[in-house]
Amino acid sequence: MQRRRSWAEPFKIKMVEPLRMTTRAQREAAIEEAGFNTFLLRSRDVYIDLLTDSGTAAMSDRQWAGMMLGDEAYAGSENFYHLEDAVRHVYGYKHVIPTHQGRGAEHILSRMCIKPGDFIPGNMYFTTTKAHQELAGGRFVDVIHDRAHDSTLEHPFKGDIDLAKLTSLIDRVGAGKIPYLCVQCNVNMAGGQPISLANLREVSALCRRHGIRVFLDATRAAENAYFIQQREPGCAGRSIRDILLEICSLSDGCTCSAKKDALVNIGGFLCLNDDALAEEARNMVVLYEGLHTYGGLAGRDMEAMAIGIEESVEQDHMKARIGQVTYLGEALMREGVPIVKPIGGHGIFLDAARFLPHIPREQFPAQALACALYVDSGVRAMERGAVSAGRNPDTGQNIFPKLELVRLTLPRRVYTQAHMDVAAESVIELFRNAPKVVGLRFTFEPKHLRFFQARFAPVTGARVLLTEDADAPVSRCCCGAGGCRENG
Ligand SMILES: *Cc1c(COP(=O)(O)O)cnc(C)c1O
Repeated sequence: MQRRRSWAEPFKIKMVEPLRMTTRAQREAAIEEAGFNTFLLRSRDVYIDLLTDSGTAAMSDRQWAGMMLGDEAYAGSENFYHLEDAVRHVYGYKHVIPTHQGRGAEHILSRMCIKPGDFIPGNMYFTTTKAHQELAGGRFVDVIHDRAHDSTLEHPFKGDIDLAKLTSLIDRVGAGKIPYLCVQCNVNMAGGQPISLANLREVSALCRRHGIRVFLDATRAAENAYFIQQREPGCAGRSIRDILLEICSLSDGCTCSAKKDALVNIGGFLCLNDDALAEEARNMVVLYEGLHTYGGLAGRDMEAMAIGIEESVEQDHMKARIGQVTYLGEALMREGVPIVKPIGGHGIFLDAARFLPHIPREQFPAQALACALYVDSGVRAMERGAVSAGRNPDTGQNIFPKLELVRLTLPRRVYTQAHMDVAAESVIELFRNAPKVVGLRFTFEPKHLRFFQARFAPVTGARVLLTEDADAPVSRCCCGAGGCRENG
């Protein structure tokens, strides 16, 4: 019989950031003040912040040391050349253009390549990516395999592209109307699900035959490379670095938000292999971001990014990163909580439609669940369902995507296993009390990326999570903040 061998993070804690504990009554007031939108909460009112893994990583001592080496020259900063070396070394592209974050790179790529009336296929939309494609006059077309839309289906590569869907789009509109295919690694909205090398090789060959460029959204390409190493036949002996280089070699360039894999709080980059396109991008970056050797970033930010990129492909780091996500997911699965399977790379996605079957889609069950979770324990999550999907640009109707999810996203190197236990216990408690969660309606709806600033109200009364006696705040644990292990 094998004895249990525990797992622990490959780092220790040098500096702590105290968290403020709140009562349930304080959280009820805070979520109402925030218009029942977790994006509008003040972070001081949040206990465990699982809103996003974007820009929330803890930097290493080496990265902080690098911040002190910031060369804040307007042009030709030394840190830019470190960044260029790191990106070339780890991702393998020829030209590297820094941007303030991922959407800066998406903006430039979309403006350069998309003409009004074009179609941009991709393996499931991402909010900012699609918004920039549409602003440039293009139309996003989802060519991800159907299995990505089924949260119950276990498949190692739910990020794979359906070649039949891609071929049928090419036949329908013609390759001339498709400036590029946008391939997202570790597909965010599908639950952090990877694409396989086998699929990427086929897709890349198909596009090459039709003269269609392939650009990666490489934001989580290192995590994708780890899943390929763990799951794809023939890849077990390969390093994350080696696999990542092959992924990138199958494309013509990438956009990347360095706020995810690359372990920094701000930054991004655009990579291109084509000299002429890179020249055009350098012209545009000056207009929208800053000179091509800083792209809206301070020298110190570029230095931290260069170091973070090298750290992001270390085996021990990635094993701990994905291991923590798996730990949280398995705790929920053991109690039968409906989550997207298999467990993905950057978070756990609760299937709100199955979690709250009594709330109709028109009352945004995922938004309501994220609010109820906050009220229960101060854990902040994010809606990834109909609110995030927005409206159909032709009809103005709400889009109801197949997946109505709440994302518990794990910042890299920030929280401990005990934080994961607290989050899991709160979700499980809510799952047992699911009928008490109330749906929501819009009270304010912004035009672009509405999920960020929308405001809501509960469809009945003022509370999103009903208690037996709505006037008497219930605390189920001794500290009243959901932060203890005792059942009081
Ligand atoms: C975060 C993200 C982006 C946008 O990057 P920002 O740095 O937030 O501008 C693009 N694509 C994916 C897949 C992302 O997760």
